[in-house]
Amino acid sequence: MKIEVVGSGNSWTKRLSTSFIIDDHILIDVPQGSFKSLFTNKKLENIDTVILTHYHSDHWADLHLFIQTLKHKKFAGKLKLFAPEGFWNKYETLTSAFCVSNNFEFAKQHISYSQLYNGKIFKIANLKLTTYEVLHIPNTFGFVIDDGKTKIGFSADTAMCDSLIKLIKKSSHVFIDVSSIELNKNHLSVNEVLNLKKEFENVNFYAIHYLDDVAFKLKRKINIAHDGEIFNF
Ligand SMILES: [Zn+2]
Repeated sequence: MKIEVVGSGNSWTKRLSTSFIIDDHILIDVPQGSFKSLFTNKKLENIDTVILTHYHSDHWADLHLFIQTLKHKKFAGKLKLFAPEGFWNKYETLTSAFCVSNNFEFAKQHISYSQLYNGKIFKIANLKLTTYEVLHIPNTFGFVIDDGKTKIGFSADTAMCDSLIKLIKKSSHVFIDVSSIELNKNHLSVNEVLNLKKEFENVNFYAIHYLDDVAFKLKRKINIAHDGEIFNF
C-alpha cells in the first residue's frame, strides 16, 4: 500500500493540516489550505474517492474547491465520498456560506455519498476499510485499511478511548494524533502516545497532527510523518 502524507500538521503549524493519499486515488481529508498544494502538484487528477474523518474545518473545508475543479473539467462520473452522517446538510451550508451554491447542485449529481458509522466495513478497490468511531467531536472516525498484506491504522483526531485501542490492535502501522504536550480531552498527548508505543511494541507509530514543539519532544522516540513523505508498506 502506498501512503502519501499530504500534510502532517494542524491549523497552528506552517505545515499543511493532516491528510493522506492512499494508492494515488483515495484522499483522506481535505483540510483548509490543502487544495493549493493538491492542485498545483497535480495530486487530484487520479482521486476517485474521498474519505472525511469528521467535520472540523482542518479536515474538510477545501472539499468545495476540489468539487469546483471537477465542475470546471466537466467531470461526468461519480466521486465516491465516505463521510459522517449529515453530509448533504453540512455541504449545502458550507457552499451557501462561501457563495458557491451552484457547486452544491453539481455535487448532488456527481458525488456518491456513503455514511460512516462505527464498525462498518467498506470495500474500496482492492482495500478493506474498517471504521472505528473515536473520541473527539461526535461522529469522528478512524480506520484500519487492509490490502490483504498489511493493515494500516489511521487514528483521526482522538483522545484516548477503547475504540482507538481496538484500532491499534488490528494494525501493524498506525498514523496517530499527537497534537499536544499536555493532556487534552480532544486529542492525544505525547506521554499517552509514548505509553501506547510501550504497550504495543510490535506496532509502528507515526505522529500526525502535531505542533512543532510536540515534534521536538518526540524526536527519536517515535517516527514523525512529514509533509510530502511517501510510505510503501
Ligand atoms: Zn478535529
